[in-house]
Amino acid sequence: MRCVLVSECLDLRRYYGAELARAAPHLEMIDHAPGAPAADVRLALAWHPPDDAFARYPNLRAVCSIAAGVDNIIACPSLKPGIDVVRVVDPGQAQMMSGFVAWHAIGHQRGFAAFRDQQRDKIWKRRDQRRASDVPVGILGSGEIGQRVARDLACLGFPVMSWSRSAKPMLPPSVRGFHGPAGLSAMLGETEVLVNLLPLTAETRGLLDAALFGKIRRGGYLIQVGRGEHLVEADLLAALDSGQLAGAALDVFATEPLSQDHPFWRHPRVTVTPHDASDVSISAVASTLAVTANAVRAGQRPPHAVDRVRGY
Ligand code: NAP
Repeated sequence: MRCVLVSECLDLRRYYGAELARAAPHLEMIDHAPGAPAADVRLALAWHPPDDAFARYPNLRAVCSIAAGVDNIIACPSLKPGIDVVRVVDPGQAQMMSGFVAWHAIGHQRGFAAFRDQQRDKIWKRRDQRRASDVPVGILGSGEIGQRVARDLACLGFPVMSWSRSAKPMLPPSVRGFHGPAGLSAMLGETEVLVNLLPLTAETRGLLDAALFGKIRRGGYLIQVGRGEHLVEADLLAALDSGQLAGAALDVFATEPLSQDHPFWRHPRVTVTPHDASDVSISAVASTLAVTANAVRAGQRPPHAVDRVRGY
């Protein structure tokens, strides 16, 4: 079976080629290029595919992402209905994300930014410290990654709440679950640190706006690790200026890389990281592709195929 590698921004062969050859030796990898054989292509590995990419492959059955998110693949206009879109589920990535979120949640709780400023000015001054139990965390998204983050923050002593579309009866007792629009308002009303771990869909685009910031505790903190398009950037800057938010850690942006003149770079209460909060391992991508190839061969729906209408 042939698998085409399609990306506008990444050299997928360079990143994944060796591991794919090991994990899926029966797949023939071809590059998405003019004149490449297209008829036998039944599988694609893709990240930010060009708009017309999939039009060339009439027998395509499934497209694998290289990440937990699939928004840029679902949005591709040439992806015909009925083609399965598969995401990567990697427990190692969830663990990395958990560490990243804990860094910022504890940083806000303990005022680490103030220590950094004191060191710059050679000031020796102890600070009043708050307990984790005084800093409630609300997590938007209670999926593969959100649940891991929730469990780990609860172990660190934070009161943890998590929000999803559907009720989650199996959450551990240390995590309070909320769902639906009413659940969101209820959770925000108790939240000081807000973590965004939602997929980007028509429903979640622009969710992080002035109205939402206005509902969390004054002096709250945003940890934005979902997708850039969840955030209304001007509303965040206004919430920081007014003191409604004490700070924000931003890992994802509507335009990446962040432009050189963007105000987030120099904002004293914003921490910018380059979409590096967590990574799917190369071996997880390769094994997802191999499992997907087996499912396609058997005429079955691949594991971790998303609901394309729902968007995740
Ligand atoms: P997932 O397993 O698909 O979970 C998504 C969660 O979001 C589910 O709990 C889902 O609710 C909830 N959700 C979706 N739409 C909703 C809505 N309209 N209202 C309320 N809840 C909604 O996804 P995941 O693997 O945890 O990953 C989440 C996202 O994190 C990814 O899509 C990606 O955007 C982001 N991410 C970022 C990085 C980074 O490095 N910055 C790395 C990995 C992932 P239900 O459970 O009820 O369906």
